[in-house]
Amino acid sequence: MEKAARRARRLDAQDPLAPFVDRFAPVPDGQVFLNGGSLGRLPAATPALLDRVVRGDWGDRLARARTQWLDLPQRVGNRMAAVALGARPGEVVVSDCTSVNLYKLTVAALDARPGRRTVVVDDDNFPTDRYVVAGVAAGHGRALRTVHTDPDAGLDLETLRAAVDEDTAVVVLSLVSHRSGALLDMAEVHEIAHAQGALVLWDLSHAVGAVDLQLAATGADLAVGATYKHLMAGPGCPALLYVRRDLQSQAVQPVHGWYGHREQLAMRPEYDPDPTIRRFLTGTPPALSVVAAEPALDLLAEAGMAAVRAKSRALTGFLTELAGAVLVPRGLRPAGPADPERRGAHVTYRHPQAGKLVPALAEAELFVDYTHPDRVRLSPAPLSTRYADVVEAVRRFREVLTAFDPPPYRKGAGVPEAAVDPYGRAL
Ligand SMILES: *Cc1c(COP(=O)(O)O)cnc(C)c1O
Repeated sequence: MEKAARRARRLDAQDPLAPFVDRFAPVPDGQVFLNGGSLGRLPAATPALLDRVVRGDWGDRLARARTQWLDLPQRVGNRMAAVALGARPGEVVVSDCTSVNLYKLTVAALDARPGRRTVVVDDDNFPTDRYVVAGVAAGHGRALRTVHTDPDAGLDLETLRAAVDEDTAVVVLSLVSHRSGALLDMAEVHEIAHAQGALVLWDLSHAVGAVDLQLAATGADLAVGATYKHLMAGPGCPALLYVRRDLQSQAVQPVHGWYGHREQLAMRPEYDPDPTIRRFLTGTPPALSVVAAEPALDLLAEAGMAAVRAKSRALTGFLTELAGAVLVPRGLRPAGPADPERRGAHVTYRHPQAGKLVPALAEAELFVDYTHPDRVRLSPAPLSTRYADVVEAVRRFREVLTAFDPPPYRKGAGVPEAAVDPYGRAL
């Protein structure tokens, strides 16, 4: 590990994004966070901003502040579109949670593709995505076609191609798999779906803020995504919702509220959806949570998403190299794409006792995620992780694995198969 530590010092010294580490609230002494894929770190500027909004806007400027928040979902959405999504103004709002946005846009997609009877989803998608899509299909009399995704390698595009046809209304996929980290090629998926006239609804939860997204350039139709992961907008910040401009007037979402009305403040007796992205809103935005998205967007804008993605690739590459040398011989098994180009910002390993290993790592103050049923997920957040943190994480991981009770494997002894697949089915 000495050689790795020296290399890390060199990489940190050469890293153009290294100064951003100090733009976050410091990590408590001795702790290492490699769970940026669950909850992004706190930007140092966020507490003062929230204090200003609470005491100044809410406390001192009550009525004026309230009207100033009416278009907050669009204003922050526009900034997110420009900084992190490669989308145009007027195509993104920040409102509701990812699950609700998925519901709204799945129904809107059926509305935009009337007469088509099938919705396509894959079996590796995040549970909430599969529940929401299955519920919409059942509630609207559509068939659900679930394609199998390899839980390590990701979705095979030929499998997808075979599942999409002229009867497909919408294909719902995660761009980066929450478990394996597999990153799909957005343009190729669009080509497959659009060739059949189907729409694609992306869940960008594990991609946005870490992957250099180009929604406009790749002709994306619809997207949602959590903002509290690599977008670092904080717990409770609503999710993003993106609809390409020319699709907005073709589709009505199902939760008709006054924020989506063409004349919100006119209090008309009937619902008349606004022609713009506003029609996808429903009610009052949680202003304190939405404004908390801004400091992280400032950081990402300053760094530039291409540089963020480049550092993310380098960090996961460095991590897999060290883990391959030090942790794999002690019982971890790689479980995601080996090529950094083909994965998002996290790497995943299998261990038959992953559920016990992750709390043991937390005891050693190394914070990573467990994913069902036998996986450990490590997400080094590109703007707040040093290469030296990666070395320290691997060092602690090695100690915990070595002392793990009962020690599951000896060095080089190989890894027994888990008894269940990632869906809990017996193997
Ligand atoms: C984190 C995450 C969500 C979160 O959904 P909420 O409704 O915002 O809780 C949804 N989908 C995916 C793929 C995620 O990773």
